[in-house]
Amino acid sequence: MDFSLNEDQQLMVDAFTEVMHSRNWDAYFHECDEKHEYPIEWTEAICELGFDRILLPEEHDGLGADWVTLTAAYEALGREGGPTYVLYQMPCWDTVLREGTEEQKEKILSFVGTGKQMLNYAMTEPSAGSSWDDMRTTYTRKDGKVYLNGHKTFITSSLYAPYLVVMARDADNMETYSEWFVDMSKPGITKEPLDKLGLRMDSCCDVYFDNVELEEKDLFGTEGNGFRRGVVDFDLERFLVALTNYGTAYCAFEDAAKYANQRIQGGQAIARHQLIQLKFAEMKVRLTNMRNMLYEIAWKHDNCLLSRGDCSMAKYYCSEASFEVVDRALQVLAGVGITGDHRIQRFYRDLRVDRVSGGTDEMMILATGRSALYPYR
Ligand SMILES: Cc1cc2nc3c(=O)[nH]c(=O)nc-3n(C[C@H](O)[C@H](O)[C@H](O)COP(=O)(O)OP(=O)(O)OC[C@H]3O[C@@H](n4cnc5c(N)ncnc54)[C@H](O)[C@@H]3O)c2cc1C
Repeated sequence: MDFSLNEDQQLMVDAFTEVMHSRNWDAYFHECDEKHEYPIEWTEAICELGFDRILLPEEHDGLGADWVTLTAAYEALGREGGPTYVLYQMPCWDTVLREGTEEQKEKILSFVGTGKQMLNYAMTEPSAGSSWDDMRTTYTRKDGKVYLNGHKTFITSSLYAPYLVVMARDADNMETYSEWFVDMSKPGITKEPLDKLGLRMDSCCDVYFDNVELEEKDLFGTEGNGFRRGVVDFDLERFLVALTNYGTAYCAFEDAAKYANQRIQGGQAIARHQLIQLKFAEMKVRLTNMRNMLYEIAWKHDNCLLSRGDCSMAKYYCSEASFEVVDRALQVLAGVGITGDHRIQRFYRDLRVDRVSGGTDEMMILATGRSALYPYR
C-alpha cells in the first residue's frame, strides 16, 4: 500500500510544520497546561491554515478532503508537540450536518476558521459510564415547552463551549433516548469544573440541568435516535484519539532520540548502551505499527472499506502503545524528564487519560473482539 502524500497533502503538512516552528509553542502549551487554559492562539493559527476545513464539505467552504489527509495533519502537528486532543470537534462536522436543524447548523458553522470551542456531546452520568442503561437525565414536555433535568459528568470542554448536545430519556417513556441542542447560557445550568490528571488544556465538568427550558426546535436529530446517533459517530471519535496518541508518541520518541545521542555518561553517549537501544527498538516497533494501522484505516475509510471494529482497535492499540513509547522515552530522559517542565511529563499524563476518556481500553477490547469474531458466526 502506498501511503506517500500527494502534492496538496505535502503542502499542507509543510505549512503545519512551518507554523509549529514559527514560535516557541512549547512554552505556550506549558503555560496553558499549568493554567488549565484552552490554547486558543495555537488553534487560531492552525485554523487560519485550514485545519478545521479538512473534512468540511466544499459546499460549506471546506476542503472536502479525506481521512488520509486528516491523518497526515495530525501526524505533522503531533510530531511537533501540538496538543491535538483539543481539536477533537474540528473534524466532526458530519454529525452536525447530518443531524442538525438549519438553525443548529448555522450556529455551529459560524465557528469555522475561528479555532474557538463550539460544542460537545454529553452522555456520561454518575450512574452511566461505560453503559448507558442507567442514564437518569430526562426531558419532560409541558405546555408546549421541554424541560431538561439531570446530572452529566466528565463532560469535556463544558466550562466554555457555548453548546452541548445532551442525551436524555423521555420521562414519559424511559425507553426513548433523545438528544437536545442546549445553549449553555440558559438559566438552570450549573457547571462544576473537575481537576484531572492530564488533557488539562481542555476543561471537564460536572454539569447540572435543573428544569432547563427548551423548545421543540432544540431537538438534535430524530426523537428516540440518541443511542444510535452516538454509536454511528464513535468511529471518527475513536480514530481521532488514536491519531493524537500516535503523534504525541512520535514527538516523545524524537525528543528522547536527540537526548540519547547528546547525553554523555561514562565517557560515551547513552545511545551507545544496549539497554537504551532496546528502548528505541521497542519504541520504533510501536510507532511503525501505529502509523501503518492508522494510515491503513484512513485509506480503508476513504475507499469505503472500513470494517466494524477498526477504529476501536486503533484506539485500543494506540492508547496503550503510545503510553508505552512515552514511558520508555521518559526513562531515557531520566531525571531531566521527571523533574523540571519537560513536555514529556505532560504527554505521560495526557496519554494516561486517553485510556479512559472516549471509551475505556476494556470497552475497546470488547468492541474489537466482537468485530473480529463477527464474520465467523
Ligand atoms: C477526561 C475525560 C473526558 C471525558 N469526556 C466526556 C465527554 O465529553 N462526554 C461524555 O459523555 N463522556 C465523557 N467522558 C466519560 C468517559 O467516556 C467515561 O469515563 C468512560 O466511558 C468510562 O466510564 P466511567 O468512568 O464511569 O467508568 P465505569 O464505566 O464505571 O468503568 C469502570 C471500570 O470498569 C470497566 N468496565 C465497565 N464495564 C465493563 C464491562 N462490561 N466489561 C469489562 N469492563 C468493564 C471499565 O473499562 C473501567 O475500567 C470523559 C471521561 C474522562 C475521564
